[in-house]
Amino acid sequence: MVQAKKITIAIDGYASSGKSTLGKDLAKALGYIFIDSGAMYRGVALFALEQGLLDSGNLNVSELVAKLPEISLYFTMDATQVLMLNGRDVSLEIRSSKVSEVVSAVAAVREVREKLVDLQRAMGSEGGVVMDGRDIGTVVFPKAELKLFVTADLDTRSQRRFEEMQKNQPSSTFQEVKNNLSQRDSYDTQRSISPLSKAEDAILIDTGSISREEQLKVALELVETVLGHEV
Ligand code: C5P
Repeated sequence: MVQAKKITIAIDGYASSGKSTLGKDLAKALGYIFIDSGAMYRGVALFALEQGLLDSGNLNVSELVAKLPEISLYFTMDATQVLMLNGRDVSLEIRSSKVSEVVSAVAAVREVREKLVDLQRAMGSEGGVVMDGRDIGTVVFPKAELKLFVTADLDTRSQRRFEEMQKNQPSSTFQEVKNNLSQRDSYDTQRSISPLSKAEDAILIDTGSISREEQLKVALELVETVLGHEV
C-alpha cells in the first residue's frame, strides 16, 4: 500500500489570533500532530521567573543563557497536549498573565530561540505536523508545503483571550488583556531575531470574519490543493 504523503503546515500570526484553535482542528482532521511553539517559549519564561531571573521586570539574559542546558521541555502527545518543564506539567501555569508579561522578552534572546527552534525542527522532522507560532513559516520550516498567516483585529483577539482567561484568572480585566496583546505584538514584530512576519508564500486567513468551521474548511481545501487529492 502506498503511504499517504504527510506534509508540514506552518501557522503564524499575532497573539490570540486563533492560530492554535485552527491548528488543533486541522491536525485532528488530518490525523497530524499539533505543536504549539508559543507554549515552549512560555515554558522558558516560567523557568526564568522561577529562577528569579526577572528581578523588577528586567531579564538577566546572561544567567538565563547559562541555565538553558538545565531546561528540558517536551509535550506529552495524548488527547490534551501537556507541556512538561523538567518533568512537571506546566500547562496551566504558562497561561498566567505573569508569564504573558515576560514571554516576549525571553523569546527575543537568540540562544533561547536557537534551542527551541532545534527542538521544534526535531519534533516536525517526520512531516505530518501542524505547528503554530511567529516564525514557523519564515525560520523553523521555511520549506513547509502549506503556510497560513492568521489574523483578526485587536478587539476581537482581546475579547477571545479575555474570555479564555476568565476560567483560570477571573481577576484580569479586558483592558489588561488588550494591553498585553498589543505590547507583545509590537515586541514580536520589532525584535531583531526572527521577528513575526508573514512569509511571502503564506496564505492569509482572517479568523475575525469567518466561523471556526469555515476556517477549517478553507484550510482543508488548501491542504487538498497541495496534496492534489481529497483528504
Ligand atoms: O503563541 P503565544 O501567544 O502563546 O506565544 C507567546 C509568545 O512566545 C509570543 O508573544 C512570542 O513572544 C513568543 N513566540 C515566539 N516565536 C514563536 C512562538 C511564540 O517568539 N514561534
